Amino acid sequence: MRLLTARFWWWAVLGLLLVCMPTLGTLAPNSAAADVQALVAFGSRVPGTPASEQARTYLIREYRQAGYVTELGTFTYPKFEDLGSTLAVGSVTIKGHALDRSPSGQLSALLVAVPGVGRLDDFMAVEVKGAIAIVRRGEISFSEKVRNAAAVGAVGLVIVNTEPKELLGMLDGEVNIPVLGLSGAQGEPLLKEASTEPLKASLNVNTHLKTVTGQNIIAHLPDVKQPKLLLGAHYDSVPKSPGANDNASGTVVVLELARHLADTPLVHQAWFVAFDGEEDGLQGSKAFVNTAKPHFLSNLQAMLNFDMVGVNDQLFVGGTESLTALAQKADSKISKIRDTGGSDHKPFATAGVPVLFFYRGQDPNYHTPEDTVVDPKLLEATTQIAQSVIQFRFESPTDS
Ligand SMILES: [Zn+2]
Repeated sequence: MRLLTARFWWWAVLGLLLVCMPTLGTLAPNSAAADVQALVAFGSRVPGTPASEQARTYLIREYRQAGYVTELGTFTYPKFEDLGSTLAVGSVTIKGHALDRSPSGQLSALLVAVPGVGRLDDFMAVEVKGAIAIVRRGEISFSEKVRNAAAVGAVGLVIVNTEPKELLGMLDGEVNIPVLGLSGAQGEPLLKEASTEPLKASLNVNTHLKTVTGQNIIAHLPDVKQPKLLLGAHYDSVPKSPGANDNASGTVVVLELARHLADTPLVHQAWFVAFDGEEDGLQGSKAFVNTAKPHFLSNLQAMLNFDMVGVNDQLFVGGTESLTALAQKADSKISKIRDTGGSDHKPFATAGVPVLFFYRGQDPNYHTPEDTVVDPKLLEATTQIAQSVIQFRFESPTDS
């Protein structure tokens, strides 16, 4: 009887395991992996879209389950949009991309090839007054080419990529003429043809600025008004990319830290923030810093930011010297990077807050539809290291 019972239980447990296996397989043993999967499943988390809203609902629920209250920091910003821009030569219409911040413009004029890369001398070597200039990319900035074109009276500018692929770019400063980017494959033959003799062409650059609403998610215990520690990561992603590594990885590490710190005294000194609009120019973190009271910022002793921490074994840190030293104390294999300032710690650093940036380096799937997987072990390792840094910084008796 006893033997029979033991056998029965053995089979029952085995059966149960087999039944549960597919579920265990998709949910993984680690909840961080499940969080990433959930965020990725919503699709690309572009600010103002339903996927972004779903991600927010998910994160708010997880933070509340971990015992926190959440609030939303809502902000708006203008976002450039290309509504479809073309260059027509003869009966052929070529689809290009308006350079970011280019004004709209519809005009018919001669298309004149500019030699070189569009330095002022290059523009002065040809007659482009009242014409659409076409020039090759490279050596000087897009904006400098535009300024030179406008200075000699060109009414539009077409910039041709030096590679076959399409040209996407951004202009800075005041731009008064429409600017279109063409792929090398489409633009090179045209550049050659126009340098023999000017061609009749129509440039149609169709752009506008739309107002986007972004929402930062802020989680903390109800009584924490002046945290010393702020942990943050952006949860938005670029269009067409589900952003597993960039940056569900960082978002989930911050969530994991919130779960881990919930049982420690440090939770009374911490805020956790999921920033929106990072990919549109650090909009969420800028809005957070701009609307924070000066006293709130001066009270912060550390802002830890996580961006792309789910791919690549090597972990890099950047930011304030004393904090990068603590990260290297936590794990000697960590490398320091010269801080590029390309993520949400930047506005905090500018405001004088000590920052520490966690990053695992470039990812072949960066900003592509293939950014769908992360290694849960790397999320776990990042969480552990961050937790050690926090302990060194805030639990050491010699520190404030
Ligand atoms: Zn990112």
